Amino acid sequence: MQFKDIVGQKELKEKLISTVIDGRVSHAQLFEGAMGYGTLPMALAYAQFISCRNRNGDSCGVCSSCIKYNKLIHPDLHFVFPVNTTKKVKDKPVSNDFLLKWREIVLKKKYFTEQDWYDFIGLENKQGIISVHEADNILSKLSYKSFESDYKIMIVWLPERLNQTSANRLLKLIEEPPEHTVFILVTENSNKILPTIFSRTQRIRLHPLKENDIVNSLKELNFDEKEIFTASRLSGGDYIQAIQSLQVSESTKANLDNFMQFMRLSYKNDILGLLDWAESMAASGREKQKLFLVFAERLVRENFILNKKIDDIVYLGFDELEWARKFSIFINENNVSELYRQFNICIPHISQNGNAKIIFTDLAMKVKELIRIKQ
Ligand SMILES: [Zn+2]
Repeated sequence: MQFKDIVGQKELKEKLISTVIDGRVSHAQLFEGAMGYGTLPMALAYAQFISCRNRNGDSCGVCSSCIKYNKLIHPDLHFVFPVNTTKKVKDKPVSNDFLLKWREIVLKKKYFTEQDWYDFIGLENKQGIISVHEADNILSKLSYKSFESDYKIMIVWLPERLNQTSANRLLKLIEEPPEHTVFILVTENSNKILPTIFSRTQRIRLHPLKENDIVNSLKELNFDEKEIFTASRLSGGDYIQAIQSLQVSESTKANLDNFMQFMRLSYKNDILGLLDWAESMAASGREKQKLFLVFAERLVRENFILNKKIDDIVYLGFDELEWARKFSIFINENNVSELYRQFNICIPHISQNGNAKIIFTDLAMKVKELIRIKQ
């Protein structure tokens, strides 16, 4: 990760760069701020910069150190992050068990939340922790001399997940650090960190991103321009939130287009068109299929309410509403419950890996009859 890969935060980048150039790298630092401000990527870019052989306003990206940093495999770069048991890792889970996954998510997503990480490694509903077994690992990792760099760097992501015993061990290490070691703690919530650790670290605060910086970065990602401005404005300077809201609005649009097409074909009794539609539904992923069904179920319900002119309990968005005003007359007392039920029963069938082509063909054939039932 280079500084140039990080959205905004110009002043902070300059400040961090100057501490390295002036030889003022503190041995224990706390990077603090929401993940959507770029807190972890910033810590990584800083570590890479410290270790780079050919610095020039940023790490060079091509020296022997940077090449290893680009893959997060530098022998003097260590990570600790919260984990827990999964289907694959059942006993005393520690960061090392998940190191490949960690490299993958950091390199692929760069900006991600704690929950993204837990979903990625399949923790289901468990909370990640940094256990006492981990603390022993840290000690052994740092007891070697550095291999290639002047510094060994230990990045502890989310130290708020340290339990009391492991926090105490880490504290001892920070108090009497092995030679040439830099601890970078990356936290979202410094209130939850042991005060004794907190007081021994130098704080580096990340602030919310400027709206302009988010807009410029999102423009590279092929989203609708108008939506980019809205998402950036509502994000609170949090890049992850801005992206998430764009993705939600994109998937809503896709679902709405899909639903509208389905209803048109059904109303026209276009059997061939409906078979094609079912086939294309079957070709999309199970998650997408489920999201569509949930969305359709909601539209049926809300169109019925709209038909009944109970406007203030309609929760449709603007685009949906415009279209729904025309469509709602087709959903009435005589078909609403059965339509709803038809979408609804497909959800468990899809979840249980039923044959999607049969499920959607079946659905299409029933819906085309239902939609033409008049009030
Ligand atoms: Zn370099």
